Amino acid sequence: MEGKRFVYMDHAATTYVKKEVLEEMLPYFTENFGNPSSVYTFARKSKRAIEDAREKVAKALNALPDEIFFTGGGSEADNWAIKGVAFANKDKGNHIITTKIEHHAVLHACEYLEKHGFEVTYLDVDEYGMVDLDELKRAITDKTILITIMFANNEIGTIQPIAEIGKIAREKGIIFHTDAVQAIGNVKIDVKEMNIDLLSLAAHKFYGPKGVGALYIRKGVKIDNLIHGGGQERRRRAGTENLPGIVGLGKAIELATEDIDGHNEKIRKLRDRLLNGIMEKIPYTKLNGHPERRLPGNINVSFRFIEGESLLLLLDQFGICASTGSACSSGSLDPSHVLLAIGLPHEIAHGSLRLSLGDMNTEEDVDYVLSVLPNIVQRLREMSPLYEKFMKGEK
Ligand SMILES: *Cc1c(COP(=O)(O)O)cnc(C)c1O
Repeated sequence: MEGKRFVYMDHAATTYVKKEVLEEMLPYFTENFGNPSSVYTFARKSKRAIEDAREKVAKALNALPDEIFFTGGGSEADNWAIKGVAFANKDKGNHIITTKIEHHAVLHACEYLEKHGFEVTYLDVDEYGMVDLDELKRAITDKTILITIMFANNEIGTIQPIAEIGKIAREKGIIFHTDAVQAIGNVKIDVKEMNIDLLSLAAHKFYGPKGVGALYIRKGVKIDNLIHGGGQERRRRAGTENLPGIVGLGKAIELATEDIDGHNEKIRKLRDRLLNGIMEKIPYTKLNGHPERRLPGNINVSFRFIEGESLLLLLDQFGICASTGSACSSGSLDPSHVLLAIGLPHEIAHGSLRLSLGDMNTEEDVDYVLSVLPNIVQRLREMSPLYEKFMKGEK
């Protein structure tokens, strides 16, 4: 085994901020700190910087700058889209369609709406985490006002047929929101071509700062405000703008979307080297998520007979940052709702590991993980009574 390294393979939880992004942000903490709402000349630089960032986000999505609204992150964008559309359109109906594998920002917003007179259909997914389009069509009623389905899953990496879903929603005149927090920089997105009405994103998943995101709202979509107060963001989202954060988001999305193919090729190559190594070296292992339609950096595997939590602790001792389920679900003892939705039995879901690769990773990182992980899995299995019983049965 090689010497200990620091290997970060949890890019789906958050990323570092790129140097170019940070450099763009810095002047907006110090010299150019003016409140964009102020009238004097000095504050115009701040206003200008925000509008530049808005143009960059719009360009990345093929939207209009007027359709981009900055938020305090991905969760806020999801909550705004879902609650805002539900309350603004309740005269038309009270039915919402989503899936069982959404991020908690979507699921918990929907559960909240259920307490306020809305009805929510949570679509099943298949064993790869894919939504069935016929099932979606069958779920639509004349009361359906919103379909909210994530672009790419944060745990298992599965990418949904978003353009097809958009087409169905548009034909039925139903508003379509997608949580694209994991997709930005990994998948080409064109909100017009894909018939997307609302889209959420968060800078810290694509090498920008934490606590800043955006919601794309197609012109003409009826939506209530979520945050009430001052007249910022064209009276749609109150609160003094997170100026450096917004500048960082603009730069980050520009960098993340300038060469998606090149980025994907590089990350996918590393991912496949790691995944092939894991499947080769560790028996009784299952890949979760879709074999092809998945995020380039995502690996989610279940190792039979072990606990993901103990695996994470041992990996940590070797300087490896990874995740079991999603960052939000660790700390709870229930297995991930996503892994249960793809049909994994509890005991297998518990033994799952997510490695999400990104810009930080190198071949050396991959080889280091491959030199450490199989031994750790073996050590844990040797402590498992279930494994012992299983091995006796095999002989
Ligand atoms: C991270 C994430 C969110 C939440 O974004 P925050 O910026 O952390 O609020 C929402 N949806 C998905 C798919 C995510 O991965």
